[in-house]
Amino acid sequence: MSSVKPILEVRNVSKRFGGVVALDDVSVSIQPGEIVGLIGPNGSGKTTLFNCITGVYKPDKGRIYFYNKDITGLQPHVIAKLGIARTWQKVRPFRNMSVLEAVATGALLRTNSINTAREIAIKSLELVGVPRETWGKLGSEITLVEHKLVDLARAIATEPKLLLLDEIAAGLRPSEQERLSSVIKKIHAEKGVTIIIVEHVMRFVMSLSKRIYVLHEGRLIAEGPPEEVASNPRVIEAYLGIKPV
Ligand code: ADP
Ligand code: MG
Repeated sequence: MSSVKPILEVRNVSKRFGGVVALDDVSVSIQPGEIVGLIGPNGSGKTTLFNCITGVYKPDKGRIYFYNKDITGLQPHVIAKLGIARTWQKVRPFRNMSVLEAVATGALLRTNSINTAREIAIKSLELVGVPRETWGKLGSEITLVEHKLVDLARAIATEPKLLLLDEIAAGLRPSEQERLSSVIKKIHAEKGVTIIIVEHVMRFVMSLSKRIYVLHEGRLIAEGPPEEVASNPRVIEAYLGIKPV
């Protein structure tokens, strides 16, 4: 593994909000082509880490490297242009815009041509499996799973090298989670994109990732293959609040 240069390196990143230490000296290294899980109880700092990587927040300490380039504190659109895309934990409903237009806004990162953006958007919608009859619908007319797929298509339309998924399966039925899971596998296989999955739904993240990081109260407490992490006493304690004897 160490022979390949990482696509992403988070080095000793800390971030606080007032008295809350959201991230405390977090270091993460991701190899090109990996699907990596990032789990942890509510409030453990998962979204904050994504926000630091994508330039929404600037870390108080530490550096973030994308293909060895220091991207710490760059503006979100600059980081997006370099090739990092993310989906949002909270669905951000788009109004007065069709599904196709919403996805095309992602493609406009790469082209000034509306027609080209539409073509890229169509390919992205086909890839994530949003049926054609949905493309003309407004944000108010689609379901939660459709919102998640459209947000995913918008992220794909920016042609990312690294894709960050923030609780994309949360709130969905098991059958819908299955559907998303195969869509993610397909995107990974067809686009060769590196993916970090933040997820609360354990089964979902465990089945997709070969390697998992665990955050607890802003600190990394474990890293390794899913089976190993799931049986780690510190992880069990963090999730269940039970101290191992
Ligand atoms: P997770 O995504 O793991 O549930 P978050 O990264 O959203 O956790 O939050 C980590 C901690 O940082 C929480 O205590 C949360 O309340 C706090 N936090 C996150 N964003 C902000 C913010 N913009 N302002 C104040 N506190 C924040
Ligand atoms: Mg979160």
